[in-house]
Amino acid sequence: MAGILSQKFFEKAKEVIPGGVNSPVRACKSVGADPVFFSAGTGPFLIDADGREYIDYVASWGPLILGHAHPEVVSAVQAAAENGTSFGAPTWGEVELAELICEIFPSIEKVRLVNSGTEATMSAVRLARGVTNRKKIVKFDGCYHGHADSFLVKAGSGVATLGIPGSPGVPEEIVQNTISLPYNDLDAVKETFEKMGEEIACVIVEPIAGNMGVVPPEPGFLEGLRELTQKYEALLIFDEVITGFRVSLAGAQGLYGVEPDLTCLGKIIGGGLPVGAYGGKAEIMAHIAPEGPVYQAGTLSGNPIAVAAGITTLKVLMRPGVYEYLEALSQRLAQGLAEAAKEAGAKVTFNRVGSMMTCFFREGKVKNFADAAGSDTERYGKFWREMLARGVYLAPSQFEAAFVSLAHTEEEIDHTIEAAREAFAIVA
Ligand code: PMP
Repeated sequence: MAGILSQKFFEKAKEVIPGGVNSPVRACKSVGADPVFFSAGTGPFLIDADGREYIDYVASWGPLILGHAHPEVVSAVQAAAENGTSFGAPTWGEVELAELICEIFPSIEKVRLVNSGTEATMSAVRLARGVTNRKKIVKFDGCYHGHADSFLVKAGSGVATLGIPGSPGVPEEIVQNTISLPYNDLDAVKETFEKMGEEIACVIVEPIAGNMGVVPPEPGFLEGLRELTQKYEALLIFDEVITGFRVSLAGAQGLYGVEPDLTCLGKIIGGGLPVGAYGGKAEIMAHIAPEGPVYQAGTLSGNPIAVAAGITTLKVLMRPGVYEYLEALSQRLAQGLAEAAKEAGAKVTFNRVGSMMTCFFREGKVKNFADAAGSDTERYGKFWREMLARGVYLAPSQFEAAFVSLAHTEEEIDHTIEAAREAFAIVA
């Protein structure tokens, strides 16, 4: 349960901020709790307004792969801030970050920096429509690509958590052009292309879904999307806002060896500050203004402080052994949790790719949103509250991932497993 100050802050927040939060899932409604207000983060730990410490697996919803207040990131941010916070004109740091991204992702020859994941996906879809001169887009049920109008159709993350089918305020004419299909269902994609292939500008997909909880692609799914989009001359967009630099340095495309036409990035490339990016083949990116006619802009895009945090984060991730360490720790956590659940007789299914994982409160394989939605969210909520009471902060929704960072050690992992042993026993 949230402490006294958190409760006080939340009461005040509700007077001046809709729902008391600046992003819906933070409200913790679906886990039957009030939000915890945080005052600090250090390494793998969060400290709340009442001074309680938690082991953190939310990692600001993914960006903090180095943990909180990583000393190198903090110094880079301080140094950048001392030189001025924004110029609205180019800086060398932007070029450095773009070069790093192009070096890490072979499919990206040119990249545009923006301020969020939503801006990245929204711009990539506009570009796909501009390049192909087609209107329709294909997405997948339970995937989340930010809150732009075209994506709010059977979306994941907060949209799934709150059980909202779409959103008022999004015109019918816009969502008519969004086709949402079941994840991992290549036949459905094939049928759609057979029916209206000439109208489809792009397929946008989380190459490993993170926003219905973690759902990996079935063997052949991404390859099939690549073949179909090529055949019908539509663009394939990988939304690697979560998976980029997370499951391998070069994201899911690095892991599975499938190259999209466009890639959307966010979260980790900002090292905890607001950065997004979209990039791909130079020929496609040449359609963006001022090189081409597809318009996209941003006052704070490529902000020097955010870029400094991003560059520093990527450089740390490029050091040897980083992903091996994350894999070993994550494996230890997933195995420990699975054993704890089994001992307690809790009916759960674990999905994990590298340092992102979800414990679904249901039995059987989870390979799409319909499966994920069959989870017992009441029991997840109870588990969440029991873990919180034991000093472990998990995502306040069944339909999200838990993230392990480089700052976690075996000690925190083992403590988490112990806490889960008790929590599973209570909720089982
Ligand atoms: N795409 C994916 C895969 C995401 O997970 C998110 C955010 N969770 C977004 C896009 C949107 O990013 P942002 O919240 O930075 O706008």
